[in-house]
Amino acid sequence: MTKGGMESVEVFPAEGKGRGLRAQKEFLPGDVIFAEPAYAAVVFDSLTHIVCHTCFKRQERLHRCGQCKFAYYCDRTCQRVAWLDHKSECSAIKRHGKVPTENIRLAARIMWKMEREGSGLAEGCLVSIDDLQNHVENFGEEEKKELHADVESFLEFWPPQSQQFGMQFISHIFGVINCNGFTLSDQRGLQAVGVGIFPNLCQANHDCWPNCTVIFNNGKIELRALSKISPGDELTVSYVDFLNVSEERRKQLKKQYYFDCTCEHCKKQIKDDLMLAVKEGEHKPSAEMVKEVIQFSKDTLEKINKARLEGVYHEVVRLCRECLKKQEPVLGETNIYLLRILSIASEVLSYLQMFEEAADYAKRMVDGYLKIYHPNNAQLGMAVMRAGVTHWHAGLIEAGHGMICKAYAILLVTHGPSHPITKDLEVMRVQTEMELRMFQQNELMYYKMREAALKNQKIQVMPEPTTETSPSLFHKKE
Ligand SMILES: [Zn+2]
Ligand SMILES: [Zn+2]
Ligand SMILES: [Zn+2]
Repeated sequence: MTKGGMESVEVFPAEGKGRGLRAQKEFLPGDVIFAEPAYAAVVFDSLTHIVCHTCFKRQERLHRCGQCKFAYYCDRTCQRVAWLDHKSECSAIKRHGKVPTENIRLAARIMWKMEREGSGLAEGCLVSIDDLQNHVENFGEEEKKELHADVESFLEFWPPQSQQFGMQFISHIFGVINCNGFTLSDQRGLQAVGVGIFPNLCQANHDCWPNCTVIFNNGKIELRALSKISPGDELTVSYVDFLNVSEERRKQLKKQYYFDCTCEHCKKQIKDDLMLAVKEGEHKPSAEMVKEVIQFSKDTLEKINKARLEGVYHEVVRLCRECLKKQEPVLGETNIYLLRILSIASEVLSYLQMFEEAADYAKRMVDGYLKIYHPNNAQLGMAVMRAGVTHWHAGLIEAGHGMICKAYAILLVTHGPSHPITKDLEVMRVQTEMELRMFQQNELMYYKMREAALKNQKIQVMPEPTTETSPSLFHKKE
């Protein structure tokens, strides 16, 4: 077996965590430790006609497979690349007369690949599909019911002429999808569009303060170093957003991934104090008051979610303003409930083109995030980028340019220079730098040029806010 670019890592028995992934050489922040194509991947059910089934790019006009009338591709090239994986799927869909759900399609793709290549180690894989964890024994009643339903639908779909697998093995595959599925996002990393299985990535254990991050770029996932890594160090990624107190993160990890997090940040509850910060000094609020405001914030966040789903953005703004008024005298500037409201308020106000108020909230959000997140966190980078664009729109060119530079520096590490979103940022950085120079030399000229730039829409207006601001990396139902 060739290691296919996997020479610099090895699988090892990690104490108390089953297997783990370890570095064999030194890595610096931004280094790509490995790039891995999906063993198998599918587009989400709701997006099958607007996302290419090969490269997962969102496209305006896609070509449809003339045979099954289900699969869509950018062009002939993507269609040709897809044929090896789609051939069996295509005839099975025609035979079955309808398209099964994404889970069934993914399981079938995995098994057709095993039929073609055998169940041993695939080229460039450190572990085989047989060896991946499935956690079926940890399933609760509800999950078991879903598993049975999936297996039934699978058996209806699976053609009799394909290799037949045992029931236990089929359950194993669904278990693997359930706990190892990785979310694929569109080319700009803004929308979750599909799910795939990456056997090597699966070997990386979780840490709330990881030394690596994963990004989907150009059809492959890249495992990228966030800090200096020495030979022999364990490579870790975070399965959940850090913006939760340790107790909450641990609960979420236990529920979705069936383990107790014992990372340094959880053990020592590092940064919990910042995330729960309350106002200090002579107007220090009582514990009772803090409790009341937190409860009010939780209730408001629920109402906001509902209003957002319904697209009633003015109501979202009203709820945010009302909540901020309650929070401001009581909560500290790094309190996560305050930060959540600031994030939503700045995003929605930007969308409504009320840029000045949005910029004010965005600035406070970024200041808080910078104290909480790892300096090379992808979520932080994306938030700083959004804040920078908001400032630019508000005509605050100095702060805007500063934020865009900051975001660019983070994304160079987390996404790399070839990622479309980093390239977008590079364009913005050059433009805002030029504008800043002009602003410093001649303000009048600057405002004239800005007007022209706004007309040309060089920097795009904010996309419509969604409840899913940045797709979570690991595909797991809540
Ligand atoms: Zn394509
Ligand atoms: Zn087809
Ligand atoms: Zn942890």
